[in-house]
Amino acid sequence: MTNRGPKVLIVDGDRVIRNVVMEMLTNWGYEGIEAGNGKDALRRVMVDKPDLILLDLIMPDINGFEVCWKIRKEMNVLATPIIILTARGEKDDILKGLEVGANDYIVKPAEPLELEARIKTHLRIKRLYDDASAEKEDLTRLLELSKAVSSTLNSRDIFYTIVKSVGKVIDVDRCSIVRVGRKKGVGYVVTTYENPGIKNLAIDLEKYPEIRSALEVKGTVIIDDIQNDPRMTSVKDIIKELGLSSLLVIPIILSKEVIGTLMLRISRKETNFSPREVKLCQAIASLAASALTNAHLFESGEISNLELEKLAITDGLTGAYNHRHFRTRLDEEFTRAKRYATPLSCIMMDIDHFKQINDAFGHAQGDMVLSEITDVIKNNVRKSDIVARYGGEEFVALLPNTDEEGAFVQAERLREAVKGYRCSGRDRCIMVTISLGVSTFPSPEISTADDLVGKADDALYRAKRSGRNRTVEA
Ligand code: GH3
Ligand code: MG
Ligand code: MG
Repeated sequence: MTNRGPKVLIVDGDRVIRNVVMEMLTNWGYEGIEAGNGKDALRRVMVDKPDLILLDLIMPDINGFEVCWKIRKEMNVLATPIIILTARGEKDDILKGLEVGANDYIVKPAEPLELEARIKTHLRIKRLYDDASAEKEDLTRLLELSKAVSSTLNSRDIFYTIVKSVGKVIDVDRCSIVRVGRKKGVGYVVTTYENPGIKNLAIDLEKYPEIRSALEVKGTVIIDDIQNDPRMTSVKDIIKELGLSSLLVIPIILSKEVIGTLMLRISRKETNFSPREVKLCQAIASLAASALTNAHLFESGEISNLELEKLAITDGLTGAYNHRHFRTRLDEEFTRAKRYATPLSCIMMDIDHFKQINDAFGHAQGDMVLSEITDVIKNNVRKSDIVARYGGEEFVALLPNTDEEGAFVQAERLREAVKGYRCSGRDRCIMVTISLGVSTFPSPEISTADDLVGKADDALYRAKRSGRNRTVEA
């Protein structure tokens, strides 16, 4: 099947005009469909779902205004552009048309060049609109998924929920999570969309060069031209038999180590994986990371108790302590400071304009920045200091035996270190700054551990308000 262009519906009572427009549409690469009266037009809109509608005002049955109104209000078709074709160039008609929901108008007889340009413009806007709604859908889906992942205790359910949510958005032939075993060259299919019964099926990675490639580069592998891709030479005949067209493998990374992959295989002919699909799967893969370690390694007994303990207190992405462990240590240190009357300081940090980093370089590179910045922070504090990931791109450092002055100096050192650091982006290095808020016990305003964190947080907020890339003391 050839890839046909966008569908354009021409609604006009005059057969001659319809024929002329249909021919022009075909010449411009659109798929033209036609309706000779209002009723037919409404039916076409419902059944064929055109991408754009050219609508005449005068028709044998329902007039164009009413058709337009029905499309918008009754059928609730809001994003499809409607261009009114009118023989009369009267202002009132045009205004009325726009009022009932048309996007534009053209006075007949339409100048071909003008008609083509208008159609193109409105289709472009429609596409932008569709993309925006799709992204919003993706975000909602991710949010739901992250809730499901954190609320399910059973690892099998978690993984199946993950591949199912991929399968819901993308028409996959196969979508699996493959865990990388200790034994070289062996992987375990933890779960797979097309066969819910599969559990921990061992596979020979020799037969999956795309997985090996993703493990090697520790990055996403997209293979669109399987038959000619040099990475796939050894298996291309098998793949050909399966009728697959594109492969996507995304590594699941935990503390800089690839512990598994999310793998998709599709056989649709029209298009390869779109950037949106890749982005969504990358986000889903990062959700899978913690679930994969916490649950599965434990079950498979491949991990020592010591490692397990460490995993329980470590943030998966950055290797810093996690929020829960920070709370434990905070309570301990605060009690100690109170009992022995020693100072205790807290530095809250938040990366400046991190959203822009994600937007400009993608979520995966954003993750890498987070991980590298963590190392910068850890390398610039004392061994006895406790560094944790407080939330998304927020970090906290707890400094025992450090007074106000010392903490400020320390905070500034961290700020300078981050400012001067170049994170390794894919094409070029990425630079970020952080804002910091500092608080110190003892202080008349601090009587609990929560106060200490709260004051640092307030100070951080002021650092943001006063321009970012700075340290503010409580
Ligand atoms: P500022 O703090 O300077 O006010 O601006 P900001 O852009 O950093 O603001 P905000 O705190 O609102 O946004 C933080 C962003 O960090 C939003 C979220 O998409 C991103 N983020 C949070 N956690 C992660 C993560 O684990 N990985 C990646 N790549 N991005 C994350
Ligand atoms: Mg921020
Ligand atoms: Mg933030």
